[in-house]
Amino acid sequence: MFVKLLMNRYLPEWSLTRRKIFTNCARRFAKQYFFVQKTKKHQSNKKRFVAYSDLMIKSTRTVLFELLTDLHNGTIWTDKVLISKMRFAVNVDLLSNRQLKIPIKRKNQIIIHGYKQIKRLMKQKILRKIADNSISEWSFYNRIKSTKFGHLDVYCSPDIVYRSGSMWHLVRLNFQSEKNQPFLDLELATMLLWSKGNQYLPNLADKFVIHGISYSRGKWIHKKVIPNQQLLQETKQLLEKDVHNFNLLFQQFYRSNDYDSLPLTKSKLYCKRCPYKLKCPINSE
Ligand code: SF4
Repeated sequence: MFVKLLMNRYLPEWSLTRRKIFTNCARRFAKQYFFVQKTKKHQSNKKRFVAYSDLMIKSTRTVLFELLTDLHNGTIWTDKVLISKMRFAVNVDLLSNRQLKIPIKRKNQIIIHGYKQIKRLMKQKILRKIADNSISEWSFYNRIKSTKFGHLDVYCSPDIVYRSGSMWHLVRLNFQSEKNQPFLDLELATMLLWSKGNQYLPNLADKFVIHGISYSRGKWIHKKVIPNQQLLQETKQLLEKDVHNFNLLFQQFYRSNDYDSLPLTKSKLYCKRCPYKLKCPINSE
């Protein structure tokens, strides 16, 4: 009965993280997003592998948003403040991941890496203009709320929004991007769906410019896209197709009820940061 109920369940959520995990490994996707209700309590007590790089991204993002909060209030951080904020954020994240035993040397590397990553980001044109007040009308968002798009719940908010003249700019920051991003334009254009749900922004795709600032191999790379109706249309199709595929996998999973029967990643490199690698069949391949 329970299985039948679950089989008929529809998963309406879309997020960039879901999309990336799904395209890389079906088993990891299922482990992360299926059975959520049933095992939430169980999962919170369970030891899960946490990759250093994920800890680093989380701490660095936290510090960046603190920095933006202060910048918005007119306070500029010195390097000393930035490094001590990084140290604090890493210590807090380590406390909440007690199973992650980390040597002091590695911890210091994470702190320095986060510090440098933020310093380099603040040299990017948009952030520089925000810091020197050339862009005065701006705000920032943490991607925690979803936007309703038809029957879908889409996590697609930008990290920063600013206005320049009559145009609105939507900016997404990616702290660790993949080398190949063939659908980057469409993925960035999902921010336009968020703008449709925001009452303070205009409801026209041609009033927006979208930006992706992604970190890859020690560098921040800026991609700018001028959206049009066709791009918006293709973005909607991408979301529908993704969510459809998530649900097909969900059905497949409930027929076998076995995570290990699902397809594994094609690249073992992807397993490095996977929280579900301990008992994964890929280890016996
Ligand atoms: S360890 Fe690799 S193959 Fe196994 S679930 Fe994780 S990403 Fe997939």
